[in-house]
Amino acid sequence: METVEKLKQWVQESDNIVFFGGAGVSTESGIPDFRSVDGLYNQQYDYPPETIISHSFYKRNPEEFFRFYKDRMIFPEAKPNAAHLALAELENQGKLQAVITQNIDGLHQMAGSKAVMELHGSVHRNYCSRCGQFYSLEDILAKDGVPYCECGGVIKPDVVLYEEGLDQGVLQKAVSYIRHADMLIIGGTSLVVYPAAGLIHYYQGNKLVIINKTVTPADSQADLVITGKIGEVFSQLAGV
Ligand code: NAD
Repeated sequence: METVEKLKQWVQESDNIVFFGGAGVSTESGIPDFRSVDGLYNQQYDYPPETIISHSFYKRNPEEFFRFYKDRMIFPEAKPNAAHLALAELENQGKLQAVITQNIDGLHQMAGSKAVMELHGSVHRNYCSRCGQFYSLEDILAKDGVPYCECGGVIKPDVVLYEEGLDQGVLQKAVSYIRHADMLIIGGTSLVVYPAAGLIHYYQGNKLVIINKTVTPADSQADLVITGKIGEVFSQLAGV
């Protein structure tokens, strides 16, 4: 059976789907991923991106951190694509229980998804590191250079930097959804960033689907592998 047809059939049959995705879900919205040939890791900067978006670099060199962060990691004009919209629709229909994402762009919520677990935080939440005051993305963008709070503290984006731990509450919820899922769809992720990539091991069902443009280390464990653009694949699910 053609792979997308099989995906359609499984989606039709299930009411307990969980989706787990990464940066590849948003490339069709114009946000570059990290590891594709035109991704951030293959562009030239004074420091490797892994270094710039690490906690120690953020503390040592906040000017350079925020220059890179505002320039390369924030895309205020980006809109949800067919994948985000289809996932929101599947939740609306009661078929999909949760979206677990490594993305920080907020596009799943913009598409209408409600149960979204953001493993790596969100650019839309920012807090003063001294007094805890909340700031929106617009507030951050309106400030030149390093964003400072009125109290004088640096405003830190609520995104998980390298060397920082994941929110254990969010991680536990994600594990629970995956453990109880009937069908797990993984898409747009290279599955190399841990601990997020390890979540796949909690799945106990027999409908593990991987939709990705390139091969992933988990392809051999999947029950169905679809090689292609995730927005294009999900747009074929319309009307399921
Ligand atoms: P990654 O860059 O390591 O991998 C992206 C994967 O998606 C690649 O395997 C690529 O082949 C695939 N891909 C790209 N476009 C695709 C498409 N249209 N359809 C299907 N597959 C596609 O990303 P990752 O695995 O998510 O891990 C990197 C880290 O990057 C994550 O921690 C995430 O927080 C962060 N990140 C987030 C954003 C965002 O919020 N949009 C963007 C860049 C990076």
